[in-house]
Amino acid sequence: MKTWDVIVIGGGIIGLSLAIALRKRGATVLVVERGEPGREASHAAGGMLVDCLIETPAALQPLTTASARMYPEFVHEIEIESGLTADLRDQGTIVIPRPEHIDDLVLASADLVPAPLAEFEPALAPANRPAFFLKERSVDPRGMTAAALKAAKHRGIDFSSGDPVAAVDLSDRCASGVTTTKTAFHAPKVVNCAGAWSGQIAPHAFPTRPVKGQMLCLASPSRTLLQHVIRTPDVYLIPRSDGRILVGATVEEAGFDKRTDPATIQRFHRAALALVPELRNARILEDWAGLRPGTPDALPILGATSTPGYYVATGHFRDGILLAPITAQVMADVVSGTAPGYDLNPFSPARFPS
Ligand SMILES: Cc1cc2nc3c(=O)[nH]c(=O)nc-3n(C[C@H](O)[C@H](O)[C@H](O)COP(=O)(O)OP(=O)(O)OC[C@H]3O[C@@H](n4cnc5c(N)ncnc54)[C@H](O)[C@@H]3O)c2cc1C
Repeated sequence: MKTWDVIVIGGGIIGLSLAIALRKRGATVLVVERGEPGREASHAAGGMLVDCLIETPAALQPLTTASARMYPEFVHEIEIESGLTADLRDQGTIVIPRPEHIDDLVLASADLVPAPLAEFEPALAPANRPAFFLKERSVDPRGMTAAALKAAKHRGIDFSSGDPVAAVDLSDRCASGVTTTKTAFHAPKVVNCAGAWSGQIAPHAFPTRPVKGQMLCLASPSRTLLQHVIRTPDVYLIPRSDGRILVGATVEEAGFDKRTDPATIQRFHRAALALVPELRNARILEDWAGLRPGTPDALPILGATSTPGYYVATGHFRDGILLAPITAQVMADVVSGTAPGYDLNPFSPARFPS
């Protein structure tokens, strides 16, 4: 009977990154994915690496800051191993805030854009509101998950795709593997990285819920039309190096519904044209919706569960792309019995009654 050291449930960016981190420490790893790896929230995301004091819950700040710092090396490594690009960009973000948030940005020491807006980002329509500049990066989550998947396979991580885990198996009240709809896999350690679906796997009903985000993707007439990520109270625009511009995103409580709504997509389109008039020449490429893994307190759930050998890394809500490198590191520490070097108490699964 084949066994692994660790089974990771879910092949999104969190499961893939953790599988790689565990493999690098010598563990044999099987990723069990319900569909195809990397096709859910991690496929739908914008990829802004937001590390801004006013938008991140205080308890999460140490992890977001650490993860943002880890990003260049994290991406470089999986790009080298996979031969694929994740399009990490560091041109930065222009924030045009609501008037009531201007003081918060000033208090958070955000800088005003360092030149008149018309020179700094010529594609933007003139705005008679202050604009701030943040040194945030962005990444293409689709490129990154594809690269992580290829790097994981290259490192000898095993995959089972197209068959959902129904339950974590127990032996003497400790984790001993997983049962899927078709078969069973054996390992003394199991990590639940099933995103918005994490709560559906017995025996622990983690309180994750889907938070829908709709997104529109335009093909810009020029690859260099827009350089910076633009964040406004209505929409954000994320340029990719190949000329795509993403426009997003909604934050909706709509259950497990991934349909897009034409009126919402048209609203995004109008908002994008109002911000960047040249986009009137852009082609509409695609729209989609994805399901962020939300939790009751908007913080991730990270750590060991009350079942020995069973761990969880989920609930990354709006920050799972940003938080992938640090989550992989601290969870690989926890699973291999090493002190993680960060206070994970705010994220403990024990904070929710089972
Ligand atoms: C529109 C949108 C925009 C976003 N923008 C950003 C952004 O700019 N920056 C940022 O940092 N984050 C962003 N996010 C959030 C980010 O996408 C998520 O936090 C992150 O992708 C979560 O990763 P995950 O691996 O936990 O979940 P997922 O990518 O959803 O992966 C979970 C995987 O588990 C699998 N699974 C589920 N149930 C089972 C089962 N029973 N058995 C086996 N497999 C199972 C699923 O099929 C899926 O592949 C955005 C999300 C959305 C939807």
